Amino acid sequence: MIVVANQKGGVGKTTTAVNMGVGLAMSGLRVLIVDVDPQGNATTALGIDHDLGTPGTYEVLIDEEPISPMARMSPETPGLEVLPATIDLSGADLQLANVKHRERRLKTALDEYLKTHEIDYVFLDCPPSLGLLTINALVAADEVLLPIQCEYYALEGVTQLMRTVQAVKSSFNSKLQLATILMTMYDGRTRLSREVVDEVRGQFANEMLETRIPRSVRVSEAPSYGRSVLSYEPNSAGAVAYREAAAEFAKLHSATGRTASTKIASS
Ligand code: ADP
Ligand code: MG
Repeated sequence: MIVVANQKGGVGKTTTAVNMGVGLAMSGLRVLIVDVDPQGNATTALGIDHDLGTPGTYEVLIDEEPISPMARMSPETPGLEVLPATIDLSGADLQLANVKHRERRLKTALDEYLKTHEIDYVFLDCPPSLGLLTINALVAADEVLLPIQCEYYALEGVTQLMRTVQAVKSSFNSKLQLATILMTMYDGRTRLSREVVDEVRGQFANEMLETRIPRSVRVSEAPSYGRSVLSYEPNSAGAVAYREAAAEFAKLHSATGRTASTKIASS
């Protein structure tokens, strides 16, 4: 189970959760994307409507309903399921504040779901804040996938995220680790992009994927058609890069055995 987090907004969290998920599903793996962001961008990007009242993450967190009846097959990619989010979820942070096991609700529901469903990878798409929604995702996950935008102040906030990961690790989820960093919106023509990559590599040599996601108009257009860039424009630079990133990611994980189903099998 992978949580896509970075408390900076607009760095490519949702784009990464969606396109990595689709890339893995297209290679025959079974993927569940859990939309934990009230904006519901991952939900719409995968062609599922997020009108008020579409049941999903909110009902799981607040009403403790099971995931199974609410997980929807993405119309665009076989093998990819989505637990949708709607704007209802924006009240969840406050509503959770005084309930029992408020940090573990998503984990409880996901563990239950994975007992009866064969899923290779679960991606949790987080909002930019570090509130209870993100905490629920960090508690449920095994590892963090951190997208970093090749921009000024790229590492701003990473220290804060690392601190939160450490806190969640010591109180709720001892196995949580920052496993993967993906550089997004890379522009090889600019010195800045190359410098940012070097800087991040200097700190996170083991975590950074070799593949970088270029800045590409096709990547930003795809969600407005309810598509991933992989199906919208399969030969575009962005689609090629996300396919490569997904393959690199899968290869690293098959080497270490870190998938949802192996976790269930061994627990
Ligand atoms: P976050 O979830 O971190 O807020 P998003 O994935 O929503 O970030 O991305 C922010 C914006 O940047 C969106 O409009 C998205 O379409 C665009 N975007 C993301 N990745 C790329 C890319 N590689 N090239 C061009 N635009 C991108
Ligand atoms: Mg997002």
